[in-house]
Parts: sequence; structure tokens; C-alpha cells
Amino acid sequence: MVCPVCGEPLDPEGYEAGDLLDCEACGAVLRLLSDGSLEVVELPEGEEEPLWGLEAYGEGDEVVLRFSDGTLEEEVRALKADLLEALRRLEGVGEEAPKEVEDEPNLEPDHLTVHVETDGGPMALRRVVFPGAPDLLEFTLPSGSVYEFPFRQVVKTLRPILL
Ligand SMILES: [Zn+2]
Repeated sequence: MVCPVCGEPLDPEGYEAGDLLDCEACGAVLRLLSDGSLEVVELPEGEEEPLWGLEAYGEGDEVVLRFSDGTLEEEVRALKADLLEALRRLEGVGEEAPKEVEDEPNLEPDHLTVHVETDGGPMALRRVVFPGAPDLLEFTLPSGSVYEFPFRQVVKTLRPILL
């Protein structure tokens, strides 16, 4: 059984049909159905913990992202479909099985940069997955400002808006 959102393998042992499970990998809330499959449970708006420094809301086909570092606030506007596709591509990073060759440790961080077109120009999203380090997503705005957030929290914050 795997998470229908991110594909992470889940162990449903101890759960019964109707129970809720959390996917630890992506934060999705899932309900175990009587046929053993999982459905994604949409949480009512406002129940998610807000991510400090990043707010987002949808407007038609577009999503507005508001970044803040405590003093400055910046907004960019992008197509929901573009941002969703970017997050999907970024989710693929770091999910390959670790290399098994112990005498050749892979010390290179696993990273991927994708670009999303916004109203102000291209925005770069860079996810860096380095063994033992926090899993971060870096946004470089068209203005040149850089904001960094825990990757999973960004996904959790943005996914309900983009779907
Ligand atoms: Zn998941």
C-alpha cells in the first residue's frame, strides 16, 4: 500500500477501515477504506498550520504567493498548473534508493531546480536533499530575493490550493 499523493509506502497494520492515517512523507491525511485502499481526506480550510513567511491563495487559474522575511513582503502570481507541475518534479528528488556502494559514498547533495513563470518573470524553485540535512526548498523570486522553507511544509501548504 502506498500513499496516493506521494507514493510513499505505508504500513496500515493496526488500522481499521474508516481510520485516518497521516503520510509522514508528504503530510497527506488518508482514510483507510474497507477494500484496503486509501483515499485522500481534504482538511477543512484553516486546520493546517500556517507556514511562517509564505502565504498563498488561489484566484481562478492563478495562485498568489506572498513571501515575507519579517520586514519586506513580496507577491508573485503564477498559474496553478505550472506550480503544481514544478512541485511534482521536485518531489521526485531524493526518492531514488541510496547508492549501495559503501566505499563510494555519495557526498553530492541531491538537488533540482525548476522554473515557474510568474507575473514578474521566472521564479526558481530549488530543492536540496542532502543526507542528514534539512530538506529545504529555496524560492528565488524574479526580484532576486531568496526565501527558504522546509520542503514538506511548502507542499502541505500549497497542495490544497493548487488541486
Ligand atoms: Zn504521502
